[in-house]
Amino acid sequence: RAYLDRIEAVEPKVKALMTVTGEQALTQAKAADEAIAAGQAGMLTGVPVILKDVICTKGIRTTCSSKMLENFIPPYDAGVVERLKARGAVVIGKANMDEFAMGSSTENSAYFTTHNPWDLSRVPGGSSGGSAAAVAAGEAPAALGSDTGGSIRQPASFCSVTGLKPTYGLVSRYGLIAFASSLDQIGPLTKDVADSAVMLNAIAGHDSRDSTSVAQPEEDYFGCLGKSVKGLKLGVPKEYFAQGVTAEVSDAVKAALKVYEELGCNIEECSLPTTAYALAVYYIIAPSEASANLARYDGVKYGFSFKDTQSMWEAMEKTRGIGFGPEVKRRIMLGTYALSAGYYDAWYVKAQRVRTVIRREFDEAFEKYDALITPTAPTVPFKIGEKSADPFSMYLSDICTIPINIAGLPALALQGGFAQGLPIGHQIIGKPFSEKTILNLGHAYQ
Ligand code: GLN
Repeated sequence: RAYLDRIEAVEPKVKALMTVTGEQALTQAKAADEAIAAGQAGMLTGVPVILKDVICTKGIRTTCSSKMLENFIPPYDAGVVERLKARGAVVIGKANMDEFAMGSSTENSAYFTTHNPWDLSRVPGGSSGGSAAAVAAGEAPAALGSDTGGSIRQPASFCSVTGLKPTYGLVSRYGLIAFASSLDQIGPLTKDVADSAVMLNAIAGHDSRDSTSVAQPEEDYFGCLGKSVKGLKLGVPKEYFAQGVTAEVSDAVKAALKVYEELGCNIEECSLPTTAYALAVYYIIAPSEASANLARYDGVKYGFSFKDTQSMWEAMEKTRGIGFGPEVKRRIMLGTYALSAGYYDAWYVKAQRVRTVIRREFDEAFEKYDALITPTAPTVPFKIGEKSADPFSMYLSDICTIPINIAGLPALALQGGFAQGLPIGHQIIGKPFSEKTILNLGHAYQ
């Protein structure tokens, strides 16, 4: 009830949510009260959570912030939702996002733009901007987002919350509406690292319905917190301080490095020379996969359907022409081009090769270091409208987060300072399945 009241109070300004579940949440909360009274409470019993609207919820509208799915009510829960519900969590709302998770500001939502709670004239980041803004504004203690190229971490940085992108394969993608399947991963946005670990405990684990889900033994990420980080070796790749990273951001990251030093970590500059190609690789691979994934929206199976015609082709053209927004169309065109006969080898195959090189470079760095530290976003949150006319400058705001998805690694985005009253953050990148190490490091920092 308290969180629903808070939502009512701040939503008119922040506009983080597509749907508020209201009565449904109160019914779940009542069941949680009963479980607590009966002594059957777990860590998440009665805890309100907000889900990015790309995660399917049985009986609750799931739009992907697209006109294409305006009235889509999934007949099933995503794997992560089943897991949260089984632990007593209460789904209190669905968060606004960039349409089909394509964007870095939530301005690509087909419905409305979310505002950054720290400065309402600025963007909250994206594409999980609604989830990040909701947590920052106190609308729920935790939210889930999805991260294909930075969509959990960049908004976490912009809204000064903690965001975790787990190792590819650790969290089930079953019921996550697909953008780029080899990059997408669900993760938590929370106020701090301890809450992030509690959420990861709930959502991580094998799911046979996702063919890329890894059969790892289940771990206690919360229980591992509090260990000494003394003697850990941290690498700081110098390439992450170029490419448009502002002086205030690099100063804040350097101040954070001092904290890790005081905690007893050994810090060393290192180099990941292929970083410069990561953005180009991403904007071939992600749109290619998106163009294939989004072929399913043909107006026949589900979602928006243009019916006022006798011709099948016109029906499909109008369905997709009206149902998709401009950024989604841009990605479909980029991807279709990169995959087309004659260009496939020149673009897609080459991008996959560079992807392997990027991954190898990280592997080599992790032979030497326990984790890497970089900025999360190159700038503080920008003004609403500032970049919307220039897709390339928007794409650049993920320059520090994209390489991590390309390599499938886990990364934790932490709050780490303010400049002109606006949040700045840094990220801790780990080797595959080293969530315990990066969470413990982040916890020590906080
Ligand atoms: N901003 C990036 C994009 O538009 C990343 C999005 C994401 O991680 N979902 O592709």
